[in-house]
Amino acid sequence: MVEDQLRRRGIVDINVLNTMESVPRHLFVAEGEQHLAYFDGPLPIDHGQTISQPYIVAFMTEVLELKPHHKVLEIGTGCGYQSAVLSMIVQKVISLEYIEDLAESAKDRLSRLGYNNVSVHKSNGLLGWKQAAPFDRIIGTAAPSSIPDTLIEQLAPDGIMVLPVGKSVFDQSLFIIRKNKNKKVSIKQSLGVRFVPMVG
Ligand code: SAH
Repeated sequence: MVEDQLRRRGIVDINVLNTMESVPRHLFVAEGEQHLAYFDGPLPIDHGQTISQPYIVAFMTEVLELKPHHKVLEIGTGCGYQSAVLSMIVQKVISLEYIEDLAESAKDRLSRLGYNNVSVHKSNGLLGWKQAAPFDRIIGTAAPSSIPDTLIEQLAPDGIMVLPVGKSVFDQSLFIIRKNKNKKVSIKQSLGVRFVPMVG
């Protein structure tokens, strides 16, 4: 997977490549789907949600230019795979999941597998997580119809946020939002993607 799907498509950040080599993706998918875990696409998980394609996880993680001291907010825990990848690179990950059942099972899975610097909360990610703001980095893995101001507010100076944005699954792109040290915000549109909508 790392060689064919990530390196070959241009992922170069060694931290991202090493991390995705070591996180056991098959332990994040349903038992019946384990043989498909390293396939080049998204897969269904419970409650009609998905685990993202490996390349998209790698691309978004690389865009974040992560440093070990970073505190990262993730919106859309799902099965916890992206959270696990982030947690191997940075100091602290706070991940928000709207569906209680998914939040609980991701919490159990991450602690069972030893990813102890991730906190999962059942919450609406559109509100961010004020208690621990600001965040050095923010990643959204569900798509709102526009970039939420609340999340821009919770991004620290020198911060980077990446999330899919679009009014429907057929009209979505990743957006990369940077806030400089003077809090000036710049926005860049990147890859076309298909994520589940950010609800709430
Ligand atoms: N990060 C996951 C992908 C999860 S799919 C991975 O590693 O594969 C997107 C998730 O976002 C779903 O579990 C969905 O329930 C959740 N979600 C949707 N809207 C949300 C919201 N407003 N707040 C928090 N989570 C939300």
